[in-house]
Amino acid sequence: MISQPTAENIEAAIEDIRKKKPAFANIAKAFRELLIRRALLKAEMALPDQVFKPDPVRFSQGVSVWLQDSLIFSEDYPRKAIDRLFPAMGKGFPRIAPDLNILKTAITKKRFAPETIIEAILKGQEDLVTETASRLGMAPGLLQFVSLQVMKPFLEKLSEAMAPRIAHLDWHRGNCPICGAYPELSFLSTDAGQRWLRCSVCAHSWRYIRTRCPACENDDQSRMETLFIEDLPQERAELCHRCKHYIVSLDLRKCPQPVVFETATLTMIHLDVISQNKGYVPMATSAWNMMN
Ligand SMILES: [Zn+2]
Ligand SMILES: [Zn+2]
Repeated sequence: MISQPTAENIEAAIEDIRKKKPAFANIAKAFRELLIRRALLKAEMALPDQVFKPDPVRFSQGVSVWLQDSLIFSEDYPRKAIDRLFPAMGKGFPRIAPDLNILKTAITKKRFAPETIIEAILKGQEDLVTETASRLGMAPGLLQFVSLQVMKPFLEKLSEAMAPRIAHLDWHRGNCPICGAYPELSFLSTDAGQRWLRCSVCAHSWRYIRTRCPACENDDQSRMETLFIEDLPQERAELCHRCKHYIVSLDLRKCPQPVVFETATLTMIHLDVISQNKGYVPMATSAWNMMN
């Protein structure tokens, strides 16, 4: 079962990690306030004005909804989001505090807009991320992490509004039907053990073929590998030998209680470490696999 990522559920899930998985208490503590504040910001946001009408033909050809049109961001959202989220980020990750200060000034003085980084990520414009990071004097990964954290409540809200509009359309790709980003998590549902992928940018989930690599569509089982530790068979890393990507996965049928995805992934970082040490790269850069 999946538990909604409300501030209360996130708080309870993090308390649960502290009690039952103390090895992950520190990482959970670092993310605690950021995740709670993100959930609160999202909850208080009105449904976005922008309505997308996906073109069924382009959609069936694999063009994600937001890539068919330009995203419209409200002008005051980023400033509101940094006021709410930066203190939590600075507290959870003290070593990035100087970078947060630089970004806060740049955003306030309109020298930088975090939404440009999101558009660059979705359109695969890595050069733009690198150039902007070098202009601001910080690592590209860090700029990407902070921009995504700031924009996530807005993007998730917009994605939620979009989901019912594509529910009747077929999608067979390994990237997100709504925003086009790659998944951060794969999970098997409690009902029939169907496989779902969860988007690293907008948090949308979609069905996907169980035995296929979402990154390169490899179907050959002899070129895939699953890693897990004996005590926790429900938590796994799926490695593709063909494209050298991996994704962490959860079997919800074997999870003893409802799962809050935002916090469940924090307790799977050992699988990220093992996979990355073996030379595999995550399918999508996520907060926890970048900050560890
Ligand atoms: Zn998405
Ligand atoms: Zn692959």
